[in-house]
Amino acid sequence: MTEVISLIAVLWLLYLYECLFWPPAETVVFHSLGLGRWQWMSVSNWLAPLERGIFLGNPLPPLGGALSVPRAGYAISPDGVYAWSPEFARDPGLLQDADGFHATWQALGAVRSDGRIVFVGDTPFAKLPDAGAARRLSGLLKRLKDMPAAERAKAIDDANARRFDLAAATYRWSQLQSAARGLRVVCNLLFLTLMVAGPVASLTIGLGQTWWWWLPSAGVFWLLVLVMFYAAHRSLYPEDGGERGEKLLNMFLLPVAAVRACDRLWFGALRGFHPLVVGRLVLPPEEYADFARQVLRAVQYMPPPLSPRAPLAAKIAGWSTEHLQSAALGFAHSTGVNIAADAGAPVAADEECESYCPRCRTQYRRGTFACSDCGGVPLRALRPSSAAVARV
Ligand SMILES: [Zn+2]
Repeated sequence: MTEVISLIAVLWLLYLYECLFWPPAETVVFHSLGLGRWQWMSVSNWLAPLERGIFLGNPLPPLGGALSVPRAGYAISPDGVYAWSPEFARDPGLLQDADGFHATWQALGAVRSDGRIVFVGDTPFAKLPDAGAARRLSGLLKRLKDMPAAERAKAIDDANARRFDLAAATYRWSQLQSAARGLRVVCNLLFLTLMVAGPVASLTIGLGQTWWWWLPSAGVFWLLVLVMFYAAHRSLYPEDGGERGEKLLNMFLLPVAAVRACDRLWFGALRGFHPLVVGRLVLPPEEYADFARQVLRAVQYMPPPLSPRAPLAAKIAGWSTEHLQSAALGFAHSTGVNIAADAGAPVAADEECESYCPRCRTQYRRGTFACSDCGGVPLRALRPSSAAVARV
């Protein structure tokens, strides 16, 4: 009996490990615990050397789902490219020095992607969530590099606009739900057979007396998951054959991983869209308004560019931030979010609080002038009459 208990414990540990996700840092994860109620969280850089966050999916597969939507970790403008993010304040981890890599289109070396990383010449320029996204960015950079200078501004704005296309995101979301419908049923049957019925029967009646019915049933469901996952993945991601092969191999070698096949199909499916758009699709209206205001604050109050001594970098950062802000504000406006609700200074939490960060709304005491969490965003006065006004 002890061996059976150890076996079940190992099975469940392996399964819980498969419920973990390792999205890139600065990713927004939307997740549902079931009953159609979605929430969001911003994944921090928990595993700093790997630039990865961690997220535990709901271990009960009949319920919930998760979608990861990364923020862009690079800036492009008609003037050139810059390894600096207009969307998040922390160092994306690929900057070569304090000024960051930047170059004009004319001076740009050969662009290529290698796995998740896009290289410009020999310099790593951006790290993307997966190889497919890296291929698409490197394709966009190559196109921009080769086109006449006068056409670049429009081409970049068009690429930005695709991230904010609610109709395309809605269509993709419906595709995703229909592709996963049958697969979800079989994943649940595999979960019930392999993770619940098999262990319970082995503990109460005995492994030797029961394996002959639950193990072959689990085997049939496992094979069905592999076949259905292949078909669904091929229809949703026709160009990502390499990633499909890796995921299938993982689920082939480790049948408990196959229980999570829906997550493997869903997790990165809306990566091409901006978090504001995915939030609009899945969040309840009142939570979406709050989420949108937080995202808008993050793009409105960026820290000063990292490269005060590099005019080109500052110019690229300025253009890309301004165009992102305008696209994000335009989208939020079209969805009816009341941006003005966030405009005023918050009430001081206690008597010693004197200033606040307009980006994350953290309050600070006397003597602090910039928010360290937001990469140096200048603080603002909590009360208009406060002495802190003079320092901002
Ligand atoms: Zn802040």
